[in-house]
Amino acid sequence: MTVRFRSALDGLPAYAPGRSVPGAVKLASNELSWPTLPQVAEAIAVAAGDEHTRGINRYPDNTAEHLVSALAEHVDQPRERLVVGGGSVALCQQLVQIVAGDGDEVVFGWRSFEAYPIVTQITGARPVMVPVTGDHRLDLAALADAVTERTRLMFVCTPNNPTGTVVHTDELVELIERVRDDVLIVVDEAYREFDTDPDSADGVALAARYPNVVTLRTLSKAYQLAGLRVGYAVADPSIVTALRKVAIPFAVNSLAQVAALTALAAQTELAPRWRAVVAERDRVTAALREAGFEVPTSQANFVWLPLGTRAAAFAEHCETTEKVIVRAFPDATGGVRITIGAPQENDRMLQAARSWPR
Ligand code: PMP
Repeated sequence: MTVRFRSALDGLPAYAPGRSVPGAVKLASNELSWPTLPQVAEAIAVAAGDEHTRGINRYPDNTAEHLVSALAEHVDQPRERLVVGGGSVALCQQLVQIVAGDGDEVVFGWRSFEAYPIVTQITGARPVMVPVTGDHRLDLAALADAVTERTRLMFVCTPNNPTGTVVHTDELVELIERVRDDVLIVVDEAYREFDTDPDSADGVALAARYPNVVTLRTLSKAYQLAGLRVGYAVADPSIVTALRKVAIPFAVNSLAQVAALTALAAQTELAPRWRAVVAERDRVTAALREAGFEVPTSQANFVWLPLGTRAAAFAEHCETTEKVIVRAFPDATGGVRITIGAPQENDRMLQAARSWPR
């Protein structure tokens, strides 16, 4: 093979998704376990066959005009401040692309979302990974200290994947005001709908107040559309314009646009599901603590067991004893991330956790 790949790809890990095993309970990818809402399935079927407007023989609306308007209304922001992407992970990549390149730095906590180092390195920029505190929270003072003249972007994930901990408004405001205002600060709120902490930062409000702050949200988790890939960013219109420049054309397909519009209109059906996830999260947290595990307080739809290098053994035990797939990050800063599923699924995981020989 003589093709020359860019050196930025050397040693770059491929993103490792949560595994699906036939017949097993999957608590590995932070999805909701309820089936698709019937009106969403219906809207997708109708749109697929609608040859007069936007059937799948036609390209989708490139700017997703209706969806952008609905999202703008949902977050109570002008539509010029909204942009959609093929999942919020695509927007993470676009955000790095618009500000960083060879030799630049991108700062984020660690652990945090596994895609941050990948989307950083593919641009040629260097990830600067700042350890979380002893209680598994992002260390905002250390994040601010890590900024150098090469820093172009900072990811702040709240609730943080995988630790579940949140960033509070006062500490995030302090960070934003300490950091140079030409650094793009990305508040990633993929799990926002499960966050019941009244002190949690609100990325949309902060983005409205500070032009270098962007917030990212997704329809993959709370809106149950992980398979269709829709995420959005709320940002200053100049950032929205830059994000559109680097977007792959038609990245949000027509079925995804229709499904997202329908799911957004289904707040009354979805909100009880989110409340059920929160109740199960709190039950699972208490049960795991009772069984002797350290469990940071989570505001997401998953919990984190900071088991370090023992993470792989725990995940294997869950799979072999109860056919439950959890997500292991088996290294020194690692642990196991367990998605909150239906009560019976969580019970199977708890059964495995209680029988884990430690
Ligand atoms: N941000 C965070 C913190 C996540 O955990 C995820 C999904 N694992 C994403 C962004 C991306 O989600 P999606 O691309 O499905 O919108």
